[in-house]
Amino acid sequence: MISLSLVIITAMGPAAEASAVDRPPGTGAVGRIALSFDDAPWGQGAFLTGPQRTDSLIDKLHDLGINQVVFFCVTERLGYHRGHERLRRYADAGFLLGNHSHTHPEPPADNVSGYVADIIEAHDSLKQFAGFVPWFRYPRLDEGRTRLSRDAIRVALDSLGYRNGYVTVDTWDWFLAQRCREMRRAGRSTNFEKLGEIYVEMIWGSIMFYDSLAREILHRSPDHVLLLHENDLAALYIDDLVRKIRSQGWSIISPVEAYRDTIAAMVPDVLENNQGRIVALARERGYQGPGRHHAENAAYVDSVLTARGIFGP
Ligand SMILES: [Zn+2]
Repeated sequence: MISLSLVIITAMGPAAEASAVDRPPGTGAVGRIALSFDDAPWGQGAFLTGPQRTDSLIDKLHDLGINQVVFFCVTERLGYHRGHERLRRYADAGFLLGNHSHTHPEPPADNVSGYVADIIEAHDSLKQFAGFVPWFRYPRLDEGRTRLSRDAIRVALDSLGYRNGYVTVDTWDWFLAQRCREMRRAGRSTNFEKLGEIYVEMIWGSIMFYDSLAREILHRSPDHVLLLHENDLAALYIDDLVRKIRSQGWSIISPVEAYRDTIAAMVPDVLENNQGRIVALARERGYQGPGRHHAENAAYVDSVLTARGIFGP
């Protein structure tokens, strides 16, 4: 078992060192958003090896002047694709490492002891890294299908000194990456320029969708947390994406700043999973509309890939 005092001491580190906020959070006409990358250290992708991806992400984020992002790690992958070394490199680059479980399980309906043990196993692997933060990103953003399991997991995370590493903006970058791997395996060529355009468009569309919903229910734009994955698309196009976000007047902020927003303390009492905090808060307030952006849909993504001729013969 982990020591609670150790967790609490660790929890104070990055937050205490966070840079000054240049204006009160969430009060401007435009938005602010932090970057998070799930499922690190991911293995071989469609185009890049794991180490190549890590090189690219570190170089591009630094060139963009982004000093703090968070990688949510699945620790059963540490022994593969130079996973351990790659997490150390992210930490050495100043980035944060959060807990995304050891095996990426689904929450059970009742007894959560195995699920919590999986979180603790990941914790025991991650606590050695300089960038470790006791933040838990639920696999698949699934916080539990029953009130019993949801509440038991929440109590366990509290007792471990963890906070919920929630997202406000869900994306389907994982699906686009999956299609790229399938097409690559089938020997199809890729139009990288057009693929990058789709990636940026889809994610910007999701940011606008969840921000509009937030403005509707909260009457303000909160400090956002964007869900990306540590995949090849992030490594290839994070610079294009950040340029798009900034060109719209938005700022990239650190995750530490984003989790200071008051929505961090607004824990929704609904069984609304997979789409992040804004949608859960909206459902709690009786929102009946769509819970995801239209680009978070397999048929839509496939139709765009075909229409734009992303994959050649
Ligand atoms: Zn995941």
